[in-house]
Amino acid sequence: MPVPFVDLAAQRTDLGADLERALAEVIEADAYVDGPAVARFERAYADYCEAERCCGVANGTVALFLALVAADIGPGDEVILPAMTFVATAEAVVWAGAQPVLVDVDPESGLIDLVAAEAAVGDRTAALIPVHLWGQMVDMGAARELAARHGLFLLEDAAQAQGARHGGHRAGSQGDAASFSFYPAKNLGAMGEAGAVTTGDGALAERIVSLRNHGRDGHDEHPVIGVNARLETLQAAALEVKLSRLDAWNEMRREHAAHYDDALAGEERVRSIRVAPEAEAVFYTYVVRVPDRDRIRESMSERGVQTAVHYSRAVHQHAPYSEFARTPLPAAEGLAAEVISLPMYPHLREAQLDEVVEALSRALEEGR
Ligand SMILES: *Cc1c(COP(=O)(O)O)cnc(C)c1O
Repeated sequence: MPVPFVDLAAQRTDLGADLERALAEVIEADAYVDGPAVARFERAYADYCEAERCCGVANGTVALFLALVAADIGPGDEVILPAMTFVATAEAVVWAGAQPVLVDVDPESGLIDLVAAEAAVGDRTAALIPVHLWGQMVDMGAARELAARHGLFLLEDAAQAQGARHGGHRAGSQGDAASFSFYPAKNLGAMGEAGAVTTGDGALAERIVSLRNHGRDGHDEHPVIGVNARLETLQAAALEVKLSRLDAWNEMRREHAAHYDDALAGEERVRSIRVAPEAEAVFYTYVVRVPDRDRIRESMSERGVQTAVHYSRAVHQHAPYSEFARTPLPAAEGLAAEVISLPMYPHLREAQLDEVVEALSRALEEGR
């Protein structure tokens, strides 16, 4: 039985007529930009995240970038972020004109090591970006204390953690701002590109609203230089429909994760990622560490089980980012060498989960 890495068709079937109706409404009104679905989704998503405000934007990278620019972070500033993340986290810092400073991660969870982050704080440090990697949330209580001690702007990269909690708090409610991506395969995915910033700071939200719309304020006034990075109405309409299913879908992901945990518990060559007991993860990916990762993926693929890697290189292992590593980053590099992401999406069937486990066990066996 083939098991694809993601299955958007199953999700679309689940949504059926609701999705088509929502899109048809936008098309019939020709309300492609700034249509009513945008503000409706922003309100619903802010409430969902337990945040005051949500600003819809064009994608998750621009969400990071606009949050930094709105917080006045730019040339001369340093921004601390983990070396194990998607390159977009560092990329947005560079486009804001600031300097990324990569720090190592906890080898058990893959999340930013806050002790290493504090050690990296210097005179120019202006912001800290914890990344809620693989669907698990960073301990934001500790991150907030660190940011407060050093006067840093705290920006959650929550692209992989829609709906996750830690200590009861939702991703997107704990930083000075949080960025989200709604890339189609994320837990909450658009039908194309989309993103958002949540924040409790009304003035910051207003700056983002202006920046995403050419720096406009009112009608024909452009008091700041912005960019075109609005959330499209069609995407907002699709997101509004899917948001109503997000908790149920995240619960299905957690059940699949528990199934994998149980089935792989006896495999001593498979090391699972440790999710903190205070965390309620949403499993954007289900990641394990295995020896001989590339051979194992190849073998699983031959049986029809597709896997992915998040990520096969730490950020500084991509040439243009190497200068942002100031210390050795052994935990991030160790994870990059060994992680494998197993198929994980709400509509996975039990027989498919068993097939994944079987393919992985056989691949490990072949490597003995
Ligand atoms: C997906 C992702 C982004 C970028 O989002 P896009 O919508 O693809 O621009 C940023 N950070 C992390 C951690 C991501 O997973």
